Amino acid sequence: MAKPKVAFYWCASCGGCEEAVVDLAENILKVVEAVDIVFWPVAMDFKRSDVEAMPDKSIAVSFINGAVRTSEQEEMVKLLRKKSQMVIAFGSCAHLGGIPGLANFWDRKSIFERAYKEVPSLENSNNVFPQTKTQVKEGELELPEFYDTVYALDQVIDVDYYIPGCAPPPDIIMNGVEAILKGELPPKGTVLAPDRALCDTCPLKDSKSEKISIKEIKRVHETEFDPEKCFLEQGIICLGPATRSGCGERCINAKMPCRGCFGPTSAVIDQGAKMLSALASILGIEDEEKMSEEDVTKLLDQIADPAGTFYRFSLPTSILRRRRM
Ligand code: SF4
Ligand code: SF4
Repeated sequence: MAKPKVAFYWCASCGGCEEAVVDLAENILKVVEAVDIVFWPVAMDFKRSDVEAMPDKSIAVSFINGAVRTSEQEEMVKLLRKKSQMVIAFGSCAHLGGIPGLANFWDRKSIFERAYKEVPSLENSNNVFPQTKTQVKEGELELPEFYDTVYALDQVIDVDYYIPGCAPPPDIIMNGVEAILKGELPPKGTVLAPDRALCDTCPLKDSKSEKISIKEIKRVHETEFDPEKCFLEQGIICLGPATRSGCGERCINAKMPCRGCFGPTSAVIDQGAKMLSALASILGIEDEEKMSEEDVTKLLDQIADPAGTFYRFSLPTSILRRRRM
């Protein structure tokens, strides 16, 4: 029997999601045995023309990681959608916009100004900026267009399922792959990870008081914290209340607070707003010592990068989506 054809593709990403596939270790042999990889540019020599030549819907599943930020990425994901029966948004950037999505606080012009003009280590006295078309003596060179806005995958094409995480952990990938191969999939649009908040599964959850009250917000490097105690309880922002579980509490076990890479549960529309609301409810809540508005403002001023903290992985899919320039 012919094996199902599978494609992997990356858009705006760091390469960690590709590493995550390799991190399957010996399980990758099971995957390779069960499927026929027909496109994986980072690992094998396939060309775009190979995909163009395939019949529509001839690929069983395309795993696409990374956000969409250039015209080339948009063209490729549209092509893969046409050729695939199923598309999986793989990893935080495809799922929610991810770290590249933080660029939505700027636009192309300001990003190019910074990258090609203002960076102190740069020498660009001729003011050379990337162009989509450049004439050289051999002919015309063409580069993809760099968009003003970064998009999550489902803002560009129809997506069937999501595998979350930065990067997705091996067991979440294997569970997803096995469910696909066995045809035992939940309804379309499901995130293939538990639908509970990280705080519910966190090994530090029992150290959390019923009523947390914080009077100071600190970053991990600014304090000697107790690694056996809930981070939030110690005034360190941890996105556990606003984040989906399933990662194996990787950061917590490494003595770091959660930064939210699994995105929110299905009950939450906006991960950053959910975390802000969780935080607001624990700022000096003891009845007898209610904080004044001024105290709350002072406390919030201690958050070094609020937008980057609350929307680190989810800005393009949040209610905010991008900054108006
Ligand atoms: S806030 Fe963070 S450390 Fe505290 S219980 Fe939730 S996930 Fe664990
Ligand atoms: S603890 Fe949070 S940031 Fe760390 S891997 Fe899990 S979901 Fe991602």
